[in-house]
Amino acid sequence: MKHDALIEEMPKGALAQAGGGLYSVTPRMPLGCISPEQLDIINSVVRDFNLPGVRVTAGQRLKLQGIPKDQVRAVIDRLGPVGEFCHYYVQACPGSATCRMGMRDSMAMGERLETFLNTVTLPCKLKAGVSGCSMCCAESYVRDVGLVGRNGGWTVLFGGNAGKRVRTGDVLAENVSDDEALAIIARVLDLYAREAKSRERTARFVERVGVEAVRRVVFGGNAP
Ligand code: SF4
Repeated sequence: MKHDALIEEMPKGALAQAGGGLYSVTPRMPLGCISPEQLDIINSVVRDFNLPGVRVTAGQRLKLQGIPKDQVRAVIDRLGPVGEFCHYYVQACPGSATCRMGMRDSMAMGERLETFLNTVTLPCKLKAGVSGCSMCCAESYVRDVGLVGRNGGWTVLFGGNAGKRVRTGDVLAENVSDDEALAIIARVLDLYAREAKSRERTARFVERVGVEAVRRVVFGGNAP
């Protein structure tokens, strides 16, 4: 079955598992955080629907698996506000709020980035990583959009990917403030939204048009 047809027949908010007949649902967990109340809901859903448990995903979320198609709607209804399907997500490390290595507040920056991403429509899914220092615990160099905190400010990366064709993101700017970093991300994603082909990830987009062309549009003649 073609990919689009597969997506078309899936219940909204769920993903089909291999093997047929069963689905998974990933509750919304911004920046990998979850409240005690949300945990209680997830736990009760797993018990009441006799699911095999939850899996922690690479994107810092909890995935409920093994859901029969005729129960997907009921599971999502029970999950309520945590049942939203998230097409663009931000992974953030603890950063300077709680990590001794942290040079920047990656959680606060991740929140601002996620708020911005909720306002845009892009040609394909997008993963962002915000790391509070160069240890890069949020895998910023292999994310579509990456931020790395350093002494002088943020390093802004674009076009990374950790999939089957691994690509390191290109550095668009270094030592920029929170506001400057978000403005650069807004400009590069505006270009990506306008010029990328449908379902073209940022890594393939940058390879096709060239990073210098991206920099020219994003910065004009004022590249940092
Ligand atoms: S990237 Fe740096 S600040 Fe973030 S968790 Fe890792 S060591 Fe700590």
